[in-house]
Amino acid sequence: MPGGRALLTVSGATRVGAVIGDPVAHSLSPIIHNAAFAATGFDGTFVALPVRGADLAAAVAGVRALDLLGLSVTMPHKAAVISHLDDVRHEAAALRAVNCVVREGDRLVGTNTDGAGFVDALTAASVDLVGTRVLVIGAGGAARAVVRAVVDAGVAEVGVANRTAENAEAAVLLGGRDARVADVDDAPDYDVVVNATSVGMGEAAEDGVLPVPVDRLRDGHVVVDLVYEPVETGLLHAARSVGARTVDGVGMLVHQAAHAFTLWTGAEAPVAVMDAAAREALLRKT
Ligand code: NAP
Repeated sequence: MPGGRALLTVSGATRVGAVIGDPVAHSLSPIIHNAAFAATGFDGTFVALPVRGADLAAAVAGVRALDLLGLSVTMPHKAAVISHLDDVRHEAAALRAVNCVVREGDRLVGTNTDGAGFVDALTAASVDLVGTRVLVIGAGGAARAVVRAVVDAGVAEVGVANRTAENAEAAVLLGGRDARVADVDDAPDYDVVVNATSVGMGEAAEDGVLPVPVDRLRDGHVVVDLVYEPVETGLLHAARSVGARTVDGVGMLVHQAAHAFTLWTGAEAPVAVMDAAAREALLRKT
């Protein structure tokens, strides 16, 4: 059997979930969610559907017409999908980004599970954020979700360092009075350093540029890379070389998916199974 996986049994009662994006063929969501369905015995299957921007309204109408289980939403539709939904949860509205659509009766509700996924990934790695100082490098969609989530989790301060200053200022507004614009050179003053830029994506650990100079990292830091392709990034490699603790990007990927699974099925997510499926798929890609 290809990849050693059991064949899915699809019946007339099987529910269908999907991730929409453009492109979307690279998405790990089908692998993660099908592993979760199989592990829990949930009668569902999960597919990736490429949707062009011009077809987004029709695609969301299709969720209603076809009674789909729910949607994951990825680039470039996270903001545009909002206007096609019946309601948007507070978190997603503040971030102006939906990564998960849930059915509530006849209504389609948008939510954002990235921030909760980030905090859960750190909790799973035994990192307690309460009272810490967190430096977020980057100010895009992932960074903004992290800024909000860590403030809600009770950090003492969140600094945002970004290539484009005005984007950093906008991200800081999401963090309220505990957030400020920072510089990567300030990293030694922080407890937790998060790379939320795409720097390091698709590069071997020994190549390429780091989002923060290695001489700004130290023993005692927790260094988190949201980049998960490759899993072992240059930043994580450099951080470990100076004695820092590291958390890779697979944790957030899996935990944001775990929240979506629970929203769609009402069941507890089999996080360990989802994590193993994601890591195995990423290993196969290398
Ligand atoms: P995004 O909205 O496009 O933001 C990209 C960010 O990276 C911006 O802050 C941008 O700075 C910065 N950046 C890009 N190239 C740079 C460079 N060469 N030097 C310095 N800064 C650079 O992307 P996103 O959705 O936030 O995703 C960011 C990364 O997080 C991606 O690698 C993505 O795969 C990863 N991610 C992981 C998870 C997970 O679950 N682990 C979830 C979401 C995203 P400017 O503002 O100056 O353009």
